[in-house]
Amino acid sequence: MITITTVTELNQLIQKYKLAKQTIGFVPTMGYLHEGHLSLVKQSQKQNAITIVSIFVNPTQFGPNEDFAKYPRDLARDQQLLASVNTDILFYPSVEEVYPKFTPVKNLTADVRLSNVACGLKRPGHFDGVVTVVARLFDIVQPERSYFGLKDYQQFLVIKKMAEQQKYNIEIIGCPIVREPDGLAMSSRNKYLSATHRSNAPQINQILQSAKALLIKETEIAKVKQYIVDSIGQIPEATLDYIEICNADTIESTNVYIPNKTIMLIAVFVGKTRLIDNGVC
Ligand code: AMP
Repeated sequence: MITITTVTELNQLIQKYKLAKQTIGFVPTMGYLHEGHLSLVKQSQKQNAITIVSIFVNPTQFGPNEDFAKYPRDLARDQQLLASVNTDILFYPSVEEVYPKFTPVKNLTADVRLSNVACGLKRPGHFDGVVTVVARLFDIVQPERSYFGLKDYQQFLVIKKMAEQQKYNIEIIGCPIVREPDGLAMSSRNKYLSATHRSNAPQINQILQSAKALLIKETEIAKVKQYIVDSIGQIPEATLDYIEICNADTIESTNVYIPNKTIMLIAVFVGKTRLIDNGVC
């Protein structure tokens, strides 16, 4: 695996791949990698000749009181993990490479409907930062396919929409949530959890599973939501940020349960760590 830090250098390689008609699969990340990220790499390798992973902690998608400065970073560890699964290229640009001072980058706005709920409401401007950086990375990497985890379900829909609206000829592929053996969705932010918080965090997924069983048994959506609110309230030092039960395609709030087309989106602070999860039901 090679690590490349400049757009110019990466461009030269990409031109070579394009000439040789080798397809490129792209996995954008913020680093501090885990098996969830590696599952995207493996999926890309199945479908493309070349797999490029980027690690870039994008300042524009963090709010002023969020964890940009202390977001976990460990390049050597990430390089080792990526090499262990035979990634072709790690693109590891500086902020100046992604947002050059004298060449303006197009600033995009996330689709209003898709970003007007859940994380979009709780993190104003977050998805604008996400679509802007992903579009910039698409312009640099020029992949045929790009891979995103369904753990960040709303992000997946927002990016898919952006790719359509901006007419990128890139297939946006959603990959299943990878979980720890106890059910906690893998996340770089799990590193922040204290031992007690870590042992309580899997309850989020357990509560979603029980809520799903209630929905399937045709319990009213409002009651299911209340069940989730009450159950999260029982987890020590946990605070519910939001719970939304939505149509899985539009992520509009719904009062009607449609099997396999309904999704529960949740964000919970466990201590100070904000964890998200979801479940299609
Ligand atoms: P991040 O580094 O958190 O920005 O994530 C980079 C990509 O990895 C995003 O597409 C995430 O949705 C995906 N990802 C993160 N955690 C998981 C997980 N547990 N399972 C599957 N994909 C994930």
